[in-house]
Order: sequence, then C-alpha cells, then structure tokens
Amino acid sequence: AAPDSDGRPDLLARRRASFATVQGHYYAEPPRIERGWRHHLVSTEGRSYLDIVNNVTPLGHAHPGVERAVTRQLRRLNTNSRFHYGSVVEFTERLAALLPDPLDTVFLVNSGSEAVDLGIRLAIGATGQHDVVALREAYHGWTYASDAVSTSLQDNPNALSTRPSWVHTVDSPNSYRGRHRGEEAARYAPEAVRLVEELAASGRPPGAFVSESYYGNAGGVPLPAGYLEQLYAAVRRHGGLAVADEIQVGYGRLGEWFWGFEEQGVVPDIVCVAKAMGNGHPLGAVITSRAVAERYRDQGYFFSSTGGSPVSSVAGLTVLDALRDEDLQDNAVRTGGQLKERLTALGDRHGIVGAVHGSGLYLGLELVRDRTTLEPATEETAELCDRMLDLGVVVQPTGDHLNILKIKPPLCIDAAAADFFADALDLALTQLSAHR
Ligand code: PMP
Repeated sequence: AAPDSDGRPDLLARRRASFATVQGHYYAEPPRIERGWRHHLVSTEGRSYLDIVNNVTPLGHAHPGVERAVTRQLRRLNTNSRFHYGSVVEFTERLAALLPDPLDTVFLVNSGSEAVDLGIRLAIGATGQHDVVALREAYHGWTYASDAVSTSLQDNPNALSTRPSWVHTVDSPNSYRGRHRGEEAARYAPEAVRLVEELAASGRPPGAFVSESYYGNAGGVPLPAGYLEQLYAAVRRHGGLAVADEIQVGYGRLGEWFWGFEEQGVVPDIVCVAKAMGNGHPLGAVITSRAVAERYRDQGYFFSSTGGSPVSSVAGLTVLDALRDEDLQDNAVRTGGQLKERLTALGDRHGIVGAVHGSGLYLGLELVRDRTTLEPATEETAELCDRMLDLGVVVQPTGDHLNILKIKPPLCIDAAAADFFADALDLALTQLSAHR
C-alpha cells in the first residue's frame, strides 16, 4: 500500500505489523473511522456510514450525556472500588433491581470475557463440580474459562477438538438449520438433558450449564420453547447451576424483553452482562444470589482494580438513565419491528434470503443458496458486506457458516435509517444476483 502523506507506512500496514494476526479487522480495505454520531460513523475522508453492528453503543456514538458525566467524573476522582463512594453503590443497586429474585449480589468487572469467566468460576466454586456443559456454535470470550466454553467454528475452526476435557458440548439448538428443524426442534432439549444425566451417572455432574439465553452467536435465533427450562432443571437436579450469557442479547435490545431469559420464562442462577452497559466504556457484571456469592468465598478471590471504578459506575448509571429516558427498549420494539418486516419482505424478491431471525434490534438475515437444502451462501454474504460498505452501511456476518448478517445497531436508530438499510440491502442483493 502507498505510504501516508507523512512518509510512514500506511496505518493499516502498521496495524498489521503490531497486532497479532489472530485479531483481524473488518474489511480488506477498511475505511479509517474518526468520528461517530448516534448510529453513524464518519471516515477521515468525510464519508458517513450507517452502523449496523454496534451493540456496544446502545445509546449511539458520542452520546453527550455519557460524555458529560464521564468527563466530570474524570476531573473529580477515579480510583478502585475498595474505596467507599456513592456511584458504585448506586450502580450495583440499580443493576440488582433489574433482575428477579434471588439475584441480588453484583460483581463489577470490565468486559464480557471476564464476566463469563467469573460466572463459571462462581458456579464451580459454589457446587464443587468441575464439569461444564455448553452449546456448540457459541462465543463467550477469550479468557481461560470463557474461551473453554467458546465452541464457535467461525472464530476457531478447531474449536471443538481443542476444548479442555471438563467442557461437554451439546448441539446448537437451531430450529432453522440444525439437526432438528421447525417443530422437531423440541428434540434438542431432551437430547441435551440426556448428556447431563450421563455425566451425572458417570460421577461427573456438571457444575454449570452455560448458554446465551437467546442465540445471538447463531444469528439471533430464539432457543426452542422450553429449552432452558428443561436444561436448567436437569443441571439443578444434579447440584449444578444455570449461567446465562446476556452479553449480546440482554439490556433491552430484544425489545419485548429486557433479558433474553425472560423470553424462555426462566430465572438463571448467574447472569453475565457487559457490552451495552458502558456504551463503549469497559464495563461488565455478574449478578447472582447472595448464597452462590457466599459459597465462592473460600474457593477463589475477587477484586478488580478498575471494575466499578467511579468513572465506570457513572458511565453505567448514565447508560441506564438514557435507556429509560430515551425510550430505547421501546424503540427496539418499534424500529426493530419495522425493520424485520422490511427484511422479511426482501425474501419475496430475493431467493437468497432464507430467513430473518431475531427480535427487536437483534436480527439475523440468513442467506442460503437453496431454501430446501439451506446450503449456506457464505461467499455471497462476504461479497454482500463489501457491497453494503460501498453503499455506506457497515454490516458483518455471523454464525458457524458466516452466512447471517448480524443486525444489532445502536438502539437509537430511527425509522429513516432502518429504511435506508433495507433499501441498500435490496439494491446490493439485486446487484449480487445480476453479477453471479
Ligand atoms: N459473550 C458473548 C455472547 C459475546 O458476544 C461476547 C463478545 N462478542 C463475549 C461474551 C465477550 O465479551 P468481551 O468482548 O467484552 O470480552
């Protein structure tokens, strides 16, 4: 690539030279982003892009309320939560109040990986049972324990053969393209329960069952009705605990439900949250019952130097205020509903649209070469994402076959932007079929 105007190698080459290759970047020729505003990103060339991927910024980019609150707090004090100050207490109370009984005890961390790692350690510590059951096609993080239960082939093609022996996986309970489809999807739960029973019978009852409670990483596919109820009951019957990863789907994004587990009508024992909590500021949490938290005391240590800092707590409180004051969960219902209708209608015009999954502003547009065989349109999806960038939209694929557009924009996205996205997609799909 051509050097920058200052004569140094271009920024992308410098990035590649200093980053480990395991961490990629979006697009072969990514725009250089220097600003964000609401659901828009602006490049150094002054081009504006509609941001369809940022579930880390539910309030939108450069939110003035967060900016004001965080800068004010940075000027006053930033330290660790061994000190006694108001915002961290207020924030933990507000978080606990968002969860049903008996989930009343909060651990504040800095990321989703930390939250899942701690969630697993709490479950193992509280139960003394060291085996864990996880779903296939899952991503839960990169730390030791959260990576151990990450089975997604999209991130690591060797994921299933390289998990530690204490991790036991069950089928991705995908009612669209899994082993059991449609009504048959009711068979996933009894099969997974059978694995739990077999583990218990062999003297290794799992200490935890870990899963997203609405299947974000599989493309926003809801779990089959009753799935978590049956799995939670099975692990609890053998002394284990239910760990819910709400990092992508929780915090209001699903519209109808603040938490994914509400859709399944269950209450987990341990809930892991991150991403949306800080609107981009590093923030994560694990919320559990007092009893589970207490049992961990003689099993492990917990303190995070920056988790729950005054700045993090203020960021977290401001996000909760804005979610409420700006009516963002309702907007997920309204704008997400409108968008899902538009995307579903694209299926009438474009045979490659296999399904539109999801709820609220967590949607997945799945592309297939054939609606009967469901052969994944992986290359087409990659090409579509490049075309969408040309049209001014940032959108990316997910799922084990990378054939699902994950649609999880800032929750402030408005009707006009949702229409722009659907129109751009219509055009890009038309160009794609003409070209292939
Ligand atoms: N769980 C899920 C479901 C996620 O999507 C992610 C992030 N993609 C994580 C955990 C890990 O979160 P983080 O990147 O904040 O460590």
